[in-house]
Amino acid sequence: MSLADLIDSIPAAEGEPLVTPPTGLSVSFEFFPPKTEKMEQSLWQAIRRLAPLQPAFVSVTYGAGGSTRERTHATVTSIQKETGIPAAAHLTCVAATREEIDDIARAYWDAGIRHIVALRGDPPPRADGSGGLGGFGYEPHPGGYAYAADLVAGLKRVADFEISVACFPETHPEAASADADLEALKRKVDAGAGRAISQFFFDTDVFLRFRDKVAAAGIDIPIVPGILPITNFARAVEFGGKCNCHVPAWLADLFDGLDEEPETRQLVAATVAIEQCRRLEREGVKDFHFYTLNRSDLTVAICHMLGVRAKKGA
Ligand code: FAD
Repeated sequence: MSLADLIDSIPAAEGEPLVTPPTGLSVSFEFFPPKTEKMEQSLWQAIRRLAPLQPAFVSVTYGAGGSTRERTHATVTSIQKETGIPAAAHLTCVAATREEIDDIARAYWDAGIRHIVALRGDPPPRADGSGGLGGFGYEPHPGGYAYAADLVAGLKRVADFEISVACFPETHPEAASADADLEALKRKVDAGAGRAISQFFFDTDVFLRFRDKVAAAGIDIPIVPGILPITNFARAVEFGGKCNCHVPAWLADLFDGLDEEPETRQLVAATVAIEQCRRLEREGVKDFHFYTLNRSDLTVAICHMLGVRAKKGA
């Protein structure tokens, strides 16, 4: 009996076997601009492993308060040039006039960048560590774009960019209410956004309910789940706390006792993210955005299980 016959003879379990990868999915990868030579090396190591998976696009974040303006520009343009993969630049409203932001956008257009992830941004943290992430303490620049919707409209006036925006399945921490936050998303779409990428989340039902509410509100752009492979559970909890991302007790339990076991932690993290993506896929999600944190191992494994493989010759 050949191996293929042997495999065929194994009766199928009820439901879809996990090992059969889905097809036709599309992925995108988010990176941050490196600060040091060493970080630059690990970024490019990650890009070299992830690029053959032929993501629909990659994106590069913009530091709080515009602190990475030049580095974001350099990273976005060199990724697009070196890999040929469409690269999107994140851009925020923080600490800049409209004219300054329009100039940055024009420079991107002139450099061949056609996709912007348009965000309001968070203020840099205060000296005592308060404010910053999560948005508290945000003050619009007197001559600037106040909210992401204003930025989207401004970008569309500069050039016909493809524009992605942020959305928050668990509601943005500063929003007056979930409905007000949905209205804010609608304004971004009305201003010209063509895709919303979600904040990361661990409770998949929360994303699915949010997707239903978005559809019921008449918002018909793709809502792409942002997937965070957990490289460091404590940091994911800390970051999640600031972004209104609930960490379920079952997730804490899965990572409990693994502080000194990096390899087991890695396997658990991959399993959690794969299960999350497979569930989303069964619910009709076709696009996935990965917060890679400039690492590739977990993202490659998750993509592999989603059937997203290196194209031959890529
Ligand atoms: P907005 O859509 O402007 O909303 C911000 C808040 O204001 C919400 O509470 C909303 O409900 C409210 N609001 C909107 N319009 C109005 C109005 N007219 N009146 C009153 N309230 C209003 N941050 C960075 O600094 N750099 C990055 O590169 C970056 N990348 C990100 C990528 C993704 C995929 C995500 C999900 C977030 C990212 N962030 C980044 C974080 C983001 O900038 C913050 O979460 C920020 O606080 C909100 O940005 P926004 O674009 O959703 O803002």
